[in-house]
Amino acid sequence: MSEDSLRLSFEFFPPKTDEGKAKLAVVRDKLEVFAPDFFSVTYGAGGSTRDNTKNLVTQFNALDTPVAPHLSFGGDDEAAIKALINEYKDAGVERIVALRGDMPSGVGGSYQLVYANELVAFIREHFGNAFELEVAAYPEIHPQAKSYEDDVRYLKGKFDAGADNAITQYFFNPDAYFYFMDQCAKIGIDKPIYPGIMPIINYRNLVRFSDSCGADIPRWLRRRLESFEHDPEALRDFGEEVVTELCETLLEGGAPGLHFYTMNQAEPVASIVTNLGLEE
Ligand code: FAD
Repeated sequence: MSEDSLRLSFEFFPPKTDEGKAKLAVVRDKLEVFAPDFFSVTYGAGGSTRDNTKNLVTQFNALDTPVAPHLSFGGDDEAAIKALINEYKDAGVERIVALRGDMPSGVGGSYQLVYANELVAFIREHFGNAFELEVAAYPEIHPQAKSYEDDVRYLKGKFDAGADNAITQYFFNPDAYFYFMDQCAKIGIDKPIYPGIMPIINYRNLVRFSDSCGADIPRWLRRRLESFEHDPEALRDFGEEVVTELCETLLEGGAPGLHFYTMNQAEPVASIVTNLGLEE
């Protein structure tokens, strides 16, 4: 990155097929030219992608760009999670995105979710400062949060347990982020909180995903995107413009960097990063 102080990271999910894996290697190479601070690899609900996540992390780890696995307890016990973290440590991984995660679909009520602050505390207890720890933050508030105040307080709990940074759920309204930052500062959070940026690639998928994770698509944006529903090229051009402007506003307002949900595609993230002048 040209501006050394800004952190840039790109998130991938582990592909299931060999074709998907081959495609992702090309995407990774295209995004590596932007010299990100790290790539991250998601962890399926309940640990459903445990091996795929681990394999991708190991593969990426052989490259110059550091890689951070996402991790949650899922259905695993402490011994299994400790063994997995040990494998990451032995492989030279230095950063973990620590999450509670969600209930895998089709699993009954006996399934226990372990709050992210407990995973952070567990990693610090057993691995000291071997890893830089990232946690999730929600400027528009986690869908299951009892209240705004509670959610901000629980984020503080994750930092108090030893997290170093937070990465946010995506949002399209920069004021949600700036207001959230103010509320975090008010209760004493002084660690970096990096905005998560979702490129606009496919209208229907974006709406479905946003509804499920509680990310708001403002009415004006939803209506514009609707009008491009049958013109994917125009949708992408418009989406690139909107998300570039969002990133500019965030960086001008003091965001410490950007984390892109790439959806395993090089475009439009590459265009947005180029528009922002963040290329090497
Ligand atoms: P927590 O911080 O544990 O919070 C979960 C809920 O419980 C919130 O409503 C919070 O207010 C409340 N809460 C928190 N702590 C406590 C406590 N101590 N006592 C009582 N209530 C509490 N999901 C995946 O499955 N795989 C991924 O790889 C993945 N990566 C993500 C990356 C980022 C950057 C983000 C923002 C989200 C990601 N998610 C991922 C989604 C995430 O797993 C879900 O949003 C999940 O529902 C919450 O995880 P969390 O770590 O934020 O949970």
